[in-house]
Amino acid sequence: MFHISMATLICLYLAALSISLMAIWLGVVAMRTRREGNSRKGISLCRICGFAFRPPESQSVFRCPQCESLNERKRLREI
Ligand SMILES: [Zn+2]
Repeated sequence: MFHISMATLICLYLAALSISLMAIWLGVVAMRTRREGNSRKGISLCRICGFAFRPPESQSVFRCPQCESLNERKRLREI
């Protein structure tokens, strides 16, 4: 049988708790990032009025439904 002090036991408990919380936090952040990326996929912003819409996937140039200006397909950037 090995002996372990109370201080060491508390340190081990806090380290295990910290690692567990960090793993849960990283999982939540990864899941949220993936979900936001999927929801933004295929959405374009009009370069004139800033209206966000989902253009037809077959066309590389399309009209904005709000102001009728022509737009090119561009990937949305992270803010
Ligand atoms: Zn527009």
